[in-house]
Amino acid sequence: MAEVLQKYVGRLAPSPTGALHLGNVRTFMIAWLRARQQNGKVIMRMEDLDHPRDKPGAAAQAIEDLKWLGFDWDEEFVQSERKDIYRAALGQLQAKGMVYACTCTRRDVEAAQSAPHAGEQLFYPGTCRDKHLEWTPKACWRFKTPKGSHIIVDDVFAGKYEQTVDEKLGDFPLARDQFGAGYTLAAVVDDALMGVTEIVRGDDLLPATPAQMLVQHALNLPTPQYCHVPLLVGPDGRRLAKRHGDTRISNYRAQGVSPEVVIGGLAFLSGWLDSPRPIALDELIPVFSLAAVDPRPLIIDNQGTISTLVLKSVRR
Ligand code: GLU
Ligand code: ZN
Repeated sequence: MAEVLQKYVGRLAPSPTGALHLGNVRTFMIAWLRARQQNGKVIMRMEDLDHPRDKPGAAAQAIEDLKWLGFDWDEEFVQSERKDIYRAALGQLQAKGMVYACTCTRRDVEAAQSAPHAGEQLFYPGTCRDKHLEWTPKACWRFKTPKGSHIIVDDVFAGKYEQTVDEKLGDFPLARDQFGAGYTLAAVVDDALMGVTEIVRGDDLLPATPAQMLVQHALNLPTPQYCHVPLLVGPDGRRLAKRHGDTRISNYRAQGVSPEVVIGGLAFLSGWLDSPRPIALDELIPVFSLAAVDPRPLIIDNQGTISTLVLKSVRR
């Protein structure tokens, strides 16, 4: 039988819960460059299921910022328009007896709508598993994690990551929405339906990956390749945030900084350029290398490299 070469399909999956900043952009650069270097397809998927944390206008702004930076994509999807698809997937899990409604704590229930970034995952012992509760607006859907669910993620960048999901997370939440439209279920279903072959995202979602793989198995969906990359942090080692200064793309735009300066600064810090210089995103396709990326978190010092580059261009 002839070998079937599978075309690379990657995705950018922003959540419109805030403005696009340098941290999101570095991860999206790796995702986009991985795909384009392999002549692959890029999917834009807006993950807007997190009401009320989603901010009005943030989705359109993120798209505009990404286009300004030089990103493009071949297909575009909006999760809030795909709820029927998630409802069908939830129905399959219900038919298999693999989900149940839980009303235990408000915090857990609310957490079900967002991607559980590192430190945000909670263990749930299955208190409601055999209660056969009806769904209510205060409930979430939980996955019945089988005992001994030991999962190994063979990550392209992060290496081997192992987790015994029933011990670490227990019955994790899939969604809060009555019909299953929430982060974990929607992301798993969409990655499969959109034919995503590799998921590039921040490594704070690595601990959430084994749970997603369990859901893939339960729905008979394939497991894509994973590529979890380091986040940007401030000089204090904490995830890049407001306290480290304004690294929103809209801020650089307002200051008259060119997209090539932002891209060039991040490319230099990521090891794809020998010196910081303005460059267009697509000019990085031939020089991009995943191996050049430092496995440690990338420190962004507002007094440091990226802003030196940024300030130089403002002064010009
Ligand atoms: N939309 C998620 C976030 O921004 C990313 C989810 C994913 O890449 O799987 O946190
Ligand atoms: Zn419960």
